[in-house]
Amino acid sequence: MPNPKFMTPWHGVPREEIDWHPRVNVEACIGCGTCVTGCSRLVYRFDYEQMKAVVFDPINCMVGCTTCANTCPTNAIGFPPLQDVLDLEKRVLVHHAIEDDLTTRREQLQVPDLLPHPDRVVELEVTSIVDATPTTRLVTLAPHRAEDCLCQFIPGQYLEVQVPGTSWLARAYSVANAPRSDSSVELQIRRVDGGRLSSWIFESAQVGDIVTGRGPAGAFTMRSPAERPIALVAGGTGFAPIKALVEQQLDGFPDRRMLLAWGVTNATDFYELDVIGTWLERSPNFDCLLAATSWPPGVNVPTRATTATGFVADAIDASEIDLSGYDAYVAGPRESITTSTAALHRRGVSVERIFVDSFGLTGLTDVA
Ligand code: SF4
Ligand code: SF4
Repeated sequence: MPNPKFMTPWHGVPREEIDWHPRVNVEACIGCGTCVTGCSRLVYRFDYEQMKAVVFDPINCMVGCTTCANTCPTNAIGFPPLQDVLDLEKRVLVHHAIEDDLTTRREQLQVPDLLPHPDRVVELEVTSIVDATPTTRLVTLAPHRAEDCLCQFIPGQYLEVQVPGTSWLARAYSVANAPRSDSSVELQIRRVDGGRLSSWIFESAQVGDIVTGRGPAGAFTMRSPAERPIALVAGGTGFAPIKALVEQQLDGFPDRRMLLAWGVTNATDFYELDVIGTWLERSPNFDCLLAATSWPPGVNVPTRATTATGFVADAIDASEIDLSGYDAYVAGPRESITTSTAALHRRGVSVERIFVDSFGLTGLTDVA
């Protein structure tokens, strides 16, 4: 009988709906018993007649665990692809269940004797909300109290924003601008079905609302010497930190050789083409590649921008620009980061000169 203790939902998903348990290749099993006695969840029983491991209570298996396969001396144990579990983790439901668990069990889980968070907590007022596309909102926040200031952040950093009136964990959003004299910051927020902060932004937020922001944080900041050319690569709303870096560089080093490469699914999702047009006009050393998998008529591509059909990695592969001396800064969803960095590497950008916006790698960009 499966043990009810191990049948509870896995981060909100009923355990019986998840196909995750070992499969034993009976031919390869030499009956050593390592898996049978090593699994603390009693997934296995042992056939003492045939001297073989038998998967007896598969549903007891811990989702994502592969210990028995790793320790089998004859490689006789297989599992479904780990990607199946990683895909489950992208569900909003799963992310929220983990988040609620962290909140509920805080006393049990938190590291003891924590030092206070070094970043500041600032009350921020929503000063503007602009629908850039049906699925992307540009939200401007400014310090609510005169004594607060966000002028110290470095372009490429992010803020954590709390949904007002909730104890949910805060969401991290890159600041999409270089520091401004009025200390305001722009966040670019994509609608995510069921996403907690994005639902609040799209359904409830009003100009004048107050949110709590914590930060700035993050190290996705410019660290290339001014003489090196740079490629700035964005997938989707990964454009936000890239925009901040471009603003910073155009202000500080207007002659710097720069390439912006931005990819979206549908070209109508390019929500800042007018801004890119002003960058292209400002500097002859600024180049731009725009990639989308579909290009409906009517998209107003800036003069001098090069377009490609496909993903941003395809545009990098097809570019005529010699990237071998470039440093690269890459932001966006995990898949986009993976393919873009591979393309940059193919085009001669050395791995240690590629800097990645690490919270793209959490895979949580779909659960805002
Ligand atoms: S560890 Fe491998 S060889 Fe040993 S009993 Fe289990 S399946 Fe068979
Ligand atoms: S993967 Fe882990 S939990 Fe599942 S059967 Fe193997 S050792 Fe047990």
